[in-house]
Amino acid sequence: MARKKKYGRRNAQKKSLSFVIYIIIALLLAAGSYFGLTEGLFDIGTQPKNEVGTVTEIGADNFQLHMIDVGQGDAYLLCIPDGTSVKTMIIDAGTSKGHKASIITDYISSLGIKTIDYMLLTHPHSDHIGAATSVLAKFDVKNAIIPDCNYTSSAWTKILEKIDEENSNVIFPEVGQKIKVGDATVLFLAPSEKLLNTTSGSDYINNYSIVCKVTYGENSFMFTGDACTQSEAEILATFSQNELKCDVLKLGHHGSSTSSSEEFLRAVDPDIVLISLAKDNSYGHPHKETVEKLNKLGPTVYRTDEEGTVIIVSDGSKVSRYSK
Ligand SMILES: [Zn+2]
Repeated sequence: MARKKKYGRRNAQKKSLSFVIYIIIALLLAAGSYFGLTEGLFDIGTQPKNEVGTVTEIGADNFQLHMIDVGQGDAYLLCIPDGTSVKTMIIDAGTSKGHKASIITDYISSLGIKTIDYMLLTHPHSDHIGAATSVLAKFDVKNAIIPDCNYTSSAWTKILEKIDEENSNVIFPEVGQKIKVGDATVLFLAPSEKLLNTTSGSDYINNYSIVCKVTYGENSFMFTGDACTQSEAEILATFSQNELKCDVLKLGHHGSSTSSSEEFLRAVDPDIVLISLAKDNSYGHPHKETVEKLNKLGPTVYRTDEEGTVIIVSDGSKVSRYSK
């Protein structure tokens, strides 16, 4: 409980000085609020504790991609410049053995973020959605981008109910659809309706992953969820090489050989490849065939099992790894 301060006559001068300081602070806070500085990433008083680096250190005028280490699962956070402010987007919020939802929510909170403008869940497997209800509970999630798939599991049903409860706007993306997120554009490349009839079983859900390309200035980033080679073939048939070329590729399905056909990798032609996976995982990811294909193409590869959380930044013309 706050103690009341007692002021005597001797303190009258101090009191008026305090009043002036109070007015100055109030004006600064009002100005900060007016310019959007006290919202989201730049909350005054926020002391980010992220070991790798903080959003404020990197700067709001840079596009940031945070590959959060959640073991054998995907969790990506994008901080996208939006004029003088910043928009936030999550692409998957997965959990895995030994990696709880709080790893993601604590990481995001440590950056001073309170609002998630877009939460994209590529497909309803726990290594991509395990933390989604916690994200919805902790942050103000404005929009949820989810696949329009017939899938029932208690976890997926809970997420859909929570999205409804939190009044998040739901977007079922269509192939070719574009949305503006801050100063970036998100183009949806998959899932194609055709996949509904051509794949089945758990491959169907992996193949039905939302795939998107995020373009910021001259740089672009592709996120593939667990889309397999059937979905990649649909993408190759629908989009030109120009539309698919990217600086950064989030490799499909944790480096599994069921994804990343040579044709697809050649079309995307990334300089940087990101792989989310756990050390000594039971799936044998990344598969030998995939590693060989990457060695042939020669991009720089960052893996969460080797590097932990990795931050990539772009100023709109060049992409690099952020390190302190
Ligand atoms: Zn997965």
